[in-house]
Amino acid sequence: MYQKGSVKDLENLCGIDQLVKIFCELISYDTTADELSSTVPSTVGQLRLGAFIAARLSALDYDCRQDDKGVVTVKVPASEGYENSRKLCLLSHLDTSPDADGANIKAALVRNYRGEGIELENGQVTDESICPSLASHKGDDIIVTDGTTLLGADDKAGVAVLIKLLHDIRLNPSLVHGPLTVVFSVDEEIGLSVSHLDVSRIDCDFGVTIDGTDVGELDVATFNAAGAVVSFTGRSIHTAVAYKKMVNAIGVATRFMNMLPPLEKPEATLDKEGFYHVYGFEGNVGEATVRMLLRDFTTEGLKARTDKVLSIARMLNDELGYDCVCAQIRHQYSNMADVLKDRDEILKLCRKAYTNTGLAVKECWIRGGTDGSNLSCAGLPCPNIFTGGLCCHGVHECLPVQSLNASYNVVCELVKLVAKGI
Ligand SMILES: [Zn+2]
Repeated sequence: MYQKGSVKDLENLCGIDQLVKIFCELISYDTTADELSSTVPSTVGQLRLGAFIAARLSALDYDCRQDDKGVVTVKVPASEGYENSRKLCLLSHLDTSPDADGANIKAALVRNYRGEGIELENGQVTDESICPSLASHKGDDIIVTDGTTLLGADDKAGVAVLIKLLHDIRLNPSLVHGPLTVVFSVDEEIGLSVSHLDVSRIDCDFGVTIDGTDVGELDVATFNAAGAVVSFTGRSIHTAVAYKKMVNAIGVATRFMNMLPPLEKPEATLDKEGFYHVYGFEGNVGEATVRMLLRDFTTEGLKARTDKVLSIARMLNDELGYDCVCAQIRHQYSNMADVLKDRDEILKLCRKAYTNTGLAVKECWIRGGTDGSNLSCAGLPCPNIFTGGLCCHGVHECLPVQSLNASYNVVCELVKLVAKGI
């Protein structure tokens, strides 16, 4: 027997759980990022949500700015006596993934999840085959969608945590903190957020993003990443006289793809294995283009993948006797672990914040990137803390309330630990 969510139960919970209330306000804004947009931020909803947050925090007397790109930055001076503590930056992002609809989100609450699956309002079922992490959330109260949109826990759960933190700092003098910079970034889901941030102006010793998933997870490593655009110039000639003259760009591109290691694809790799991923192909006899991602946890590994692509291109060119294949490879981001390994105190503080709030730390290697990968490389070392959101980027996205509150507790504890220099 599947459980169903109740809108009324969620409304009632908003009356007693401020964090949930803030979260529900945030998801009423459609902030879906749009890769095809030429504006910054890519959608006006992000500007609207940023303006709402800026107004709300300004009303609490914070020095809060929304810049022309839509990024909201809050500078929080230290509590008295903690002015010399390390400067901490806390980041979350306003936008949601374009992979699913983010407008008119109708959330509901499933109380005391029993583990048999959840029937969403439109009849779809979210169960452990779709969302394996649900298995460890029996007994939790879980916020779900109606099955037609994503939920927006990625990353409005992180945004809610930071807004509540700023509320509580005003109300509760025992929440001591050093100098804080809180950043609500834009267009993270389309890979642009860090390009809209100025790390030198953030001016902090280190940061954490609150943009992870299941409770207890601490993301400490990401891929090194490069993108390749490989173009093929064929020799088009009438088929009647093509013998030994035509070079079909589609054929050369196909050979190129077949020369990539067949077992080093996303669908054939896991854990700490890297891959080559062809995600785009277009072509005709005259020209063809292959777009691909190269991913590896080590810099040497990524270099080897880059060299492999270039050597296949060279080999084909040698064989054809002209420059048919041209590979352009662009670095995308680097593994944050390479930066964090020299700043061990950061992960120590994070681990302590988890254990002090009663959580076992699960350190994760992310098979992707986070804002923290780019920020770490730009000089702001930045691991990633969980928000509690599960199964993000789709209609089965859900958020256990207990995990969301655990995320808040960890961030609060981290702020105190950094202030006290423990
Ligand atoms: Zn996110």
